Amino acid sequence: MKNPALLRLSAFLTLAFALAGCSVNPVTGEKQLSLISPSDEVAMGAEQYTPTQQTQGGQFYIDPELTLYVREVGQKLARVSDRPDLPYEFVVINSSVPNAWALPGGKIAINRGLLAKLDDEAQLASVLGHEIVHAAARHSVQRMTQTMLISAGVAGLGFVLSDNEWAGLLMGGAAMGAQLALAQYSQDDELESDHYGILYMKEAGYDPMAAVELQQLFLELSKERSTGFLQGLFATHPPSAKRVEENRELVNRIGAGGYRGEEVFERKLATLRQLQPAYDAHDKALELASEDNLAGALEKVNEAIRLLPREAMFYSLRGRIYQEQGNLKKASEDFDKAVSLYPEMFTYRLHNGLNALKLNNLDEARENLTRANQVVPTSIAYLRLGDIAVQQGDRNEALAYYSTAAEAGGEIAEEAKRKLAALTQ
Ligand SMILES: [Zn+2]
Repeated sequence: MKNPALLRLSAFLTLAFALAGCSVNPVTGEKQLSLISPSDEVAMGAEQYTPTQQTQGGQFYIDPELTLYVREVGQKLARVSDRPDLPYEFVVINSSVPNAWALPGGKIAINRGLLAKLDDEAQLASVLGHEIVHAAARHSVQRMTQTMLISAGVAGLGFVLSDNEWAGLLMGGAAMGAQLALAQYSQDDELESDHYGILYMKEAGYDPMAAVELQQLFLELSKERSTGFLQGLFATHPPSAKRVEENRELVNRIGAGGYRGEEVFERKLATLRQLQPAYDAHDKALELASEDNLAGALEKVNEAIRLLPREAMFYSLRGRIYQEQGNLKKASEDFDKAVSLYPEMFTYRLHNGLNALKLNNLDEARENLTRANQVVPTSIAYLRLGDIAVQQGDRNEALAYYSTAAEAGGEIAEEAKRKLAALTQ
């Protein structure tokens, strides 16, 4: 673990561990070892919410009504949870990977790829209720020491079959948030989240049988090794026959029946379902690009752009394809377009900045890399900002950027160290 922010946090956790007495699990009432105070937990979740959303694909800004709906359903369940006072928030993430996650303090997200697989509001309630328990019962806080030990790998800069192309280059808290969102819960945590999630559903008026049906479906999909799910929801929340069985017993005990909300759900999902062919074309383009079929990828991403011209993600992918083909000018136009459609998104800024640097547009590169780092810091952005500072004759700034990049792991850090040594000779 070379990352100093993680190192500091780990030292803090070690200290907290030494000081911690037993506290009570707010959901189950059982005693548990408490590593982090509730106020630190809330602060941590709030701080990492935006960076974590972005490393998972960014907000699904194309359909804000859908996010409002998810928030409404989520808040209904949060109100009847064991910690109604947490500052819950719910967002839809622009990713085709079927997944959902919760950060400490009630910061919850569901991917558009999972929403598209659901049939009614009760199923959505079962997913959100389950995530609420992960947050409320402090499962993610408890997993933190464990996830701190996963060191950041080295990201390939080529095309990868996910939206997490920068995963290995994240620095500081952003790396921690991404790891929390992607780490696997234990079987006990899963059973506990199912159990209390079902009780919250019942309390909020939903048919709890929807949770059992969904678990059954997930179990079947996991046996078929359904791709997407394997890297998404099943990697973080592993399905099991035991979960289905225990959930069914519980629902039989408390009684099935209640609100399903099929019609409302279909109405709220109408836009996403209608736009699905555009996202399918994008995903196909990404797959073709990762197989080095750039011509095929270009054709597919153009189809996606024709179908949905206001989706920034599509321009970003086409920019990467043009870049790979050596057409930096066209790449630049597409990255500019992606940035103009979603200015806060760090990946679009990062691509735009790195491409501008290749074109020797130093000011544009600097502006974009700085903006990317303000939301989600990456070692590659620090390294290239150092290169720009060298070219612009600012030695002190170069030293600062290279020093930060040198704290990361892998090849980026090695390159930064070499450049630091050269500057200080
Ligand atoms: Zn879970």
